[in-house]
Amino acid sequence: MLMTSDEMDMTSGNHELSDGADTIARSKFLSLLVPMYNEAAVIPVFFARLSPILEAAGIDYEIICVNDGSKDNTLALLKEFAARDSRIRVVSFSRNFGKEPAMSAALDFASGDAVIPIDADLQDPPELILPMLEQWHLGYDVIYAKRQSRDADSFLKRKTALWFYSVFNRMSETDIPHNVGDYRLMDRKVVDVIKRLPEKDRFMKGLFCWPGFKHTSIEYDRAERAEGVTKFNFWKLWNFALSGIASFSTMPIRAGIYIGLAISLVSFIYALFIVSKTLLFGVDVPGYASIMVAVLFLGGVQMFFLGLMGEYIGRIYKEVKNRPLYIVQETIGFE
Ligand code: UDP
Ligand code: MG
Repeated sequence: MLMTSDEMDMTSGNHELSDGADTIARSKFLSLLVPMYNEAAVIPVFFARLSPILEAAGIDYEIICVNDGSKDNTLALLKEFAARDSRIRVVSFSRNFGKEPAMSAALDFASGDAVIPIDADLQDPPELILPMLEQWHLGYDVIYAKRQSRDADSFLKRKTALWFYSVFNRMSETDIPHNVGDYRLMDRKVVDVIKRLPEKDRFMKGLFCWPGFKHTSIEYDRAERAEGVTKFNFWKLWNFALSGIASFSTMPIRAGIYIGLAISLVSFIYALFIVSKTLLFGVDVPGYASIMVAVLFLGGVQMFFLGLMGEYIGRIYKEVKNRPLYIVQETIGFE
């Protein structure tokens, strides 16, 4: 069974599929990518729940844990687990770089025929790995885990998330599916495309969707965090959303053209009105209110778009500096 998307295969072409799902399962290799920042409380529970599922899947695997500069004993714990199980591999950063660089590092270190990014806090139920693998064997290249309900999230977070997805999709050419996080299975050919994307600003949700290929989704209910606390407060999420939109769309600065045009048009009509009024009825002194309104309004619009331009210039600056995305201090288990 050969997929149409195989024609777009950019790698060595080692993705031929046969119909015996079991034989594939044994010859293929799966990489799990786990970014971890201060997750010591959750690590034992995480492995305890994940390992039996991977055993049941009957596939060779590695679990790449990226210690994103944790301040608790995440690294020590990971070392312990890695010593006991050679399939647990650790990449440790020199400091906290953020979830997106951690995910990029995990992608760089992964050698699987398929990869699954998964959060350490068990909000992404590992049980879904089995149906994901099934769909992969059927020939899909990307299998999203779609949140059916977000009961675990607050009302505000649900609403803002919904709002973000619709704004993002309206503004950018890359559509990201609603209520899909990083948790998904991606075939090697998709990973190889993502690794070739050069940007430093890594909005993973968008980058994961950019390559395209044949995809499907599996629905699930998002659980509460098993242990510990969220690393994303509202401010961090807001910045994340802004940065996502700015890295996938130039529509915000382009909007300046339309708003500018609209204001010019209105001003032109108003100017005509004032000129004719003066010609017909003579000079009339008052006008403070209309001048103030126009000055303040235009000032506001100009500041807003200056800020927007700044945002994009800042991004260009960040890209041209070309600093590495992350610094690895130590790796364990990759020999
Ligand atoms: N994370 C990370 N670096 C950070 C922040 C978070 O690697 O700077 C990891 C974190 O350990 C977890 C995942 O990203 O595995 C998701 O974080 P969290 O559960 O705090 O986010 P939420 O689910 O609340 O959006
Ligand atoms: Mg979480």
